[in-house]
Amino acid sequence: MSLDSPRFKQEPRLQQIMDQGRLMKVREINQGVHVLQGALLDLGYSMPRSTAGTVISPDGNFGPETRDTVRALQEEVGISVDGIVGPETMETLDALFPAHRYRVRLHLRAVAANNEPICRVPIHSALEASERVFGRYGIGVDYGSGESVYLSEEQLQLFQQIDTECTWDVTDGDMYDLHRVGTPVPNNEVVVYFVRQFAEDILGCGGHAPDRPACTVSLAGTLWTTAHEVGHVLLTSSFEPVHERHRQNLMYPWAVAVRGVPMLTRDQVQQMRLHRCCEPVGSPSTPVRRVRATPALQFP
Ligand SMILES: [Zn+2]
Repeated sequence: MSLDSPRFKQEPRLQQIMDQGRLMKVREINQGVHVLQGALLDLGYSMPRSTAGTVISPDGNFGPETRDTVRALQEEVGISVDGIVGPETMETLDALFPAHRYRVRLHLRAVAANNEPICRVPIHSALEASERVFGRYGIGVDYGSGESVYLSEEQLQLFQQIDTECTWDVTDGDMYDLHRVGTPVPNNEVVVYFVRQFAEDILGCGGHAPDRPACTVSLAGTLWTTAHEVGHVLLTSSFEPVHERHRQNLMYPWAVAVRGVPMLTRDQVQQMRLHRCCEPVGSPSTPVRRVRATPALQFP
């Protein structure tokens, strides 16, 4: 049986539980466990040990705390209580997250000379990759619009290489001018500009004018660069650390090297959800059985 929840359905390890009955239990460590733990946290369960680390949080380690939390969930929804995630538990979780609870809308603007491939990574792939990154934390990425921006010869020359240094607040220079081209969008939605290159040795920049959430990605960007720059926009300059030193974290400063999908920490997710561009999508439709929002769980 296929998982329907947008949060889970792209997770191969979770899908295996349904397809092959491959149980998830104590001692398993991987991204599938990380996604499971994130869902349990969003159901209101407290998992202090699994979230104690700051580099990977939750830690993706199915330890005793995760087992006990799964047991608590199973008890609450009235299915067999064994602390193991098999098809029945996974089906229950799938029904509890029928839709994303937050949404970020991206507008894509390509700036390029005629017939030049604008990105090494096709723009639709960058969008799908962003959904894969944020979707597993309940943040859906919507396609707002896409545009190849028509420019004068003079503008085209100007924007071929972005010379403005990447800073948080972009108040003048070619990046500022770039962020004014194309169809305007509401200021709670993010515009992603795809350009040929930067003068600096960077793949992208999350800086933008304060009232105009936007980021810029270069031709050299990888599959995950768009998500990384959108990450900067959502985290804002108030979040520390700006970059993470773990190569599997989306906010690793250079090209993220990952097996699977780049991860976010619990702190990063919580900060992103506060941004005005990360809009709550109302209450999810009624789950099969209700889970208490804030179970009073006690761990030894
Ligand atoms: Zn960065």
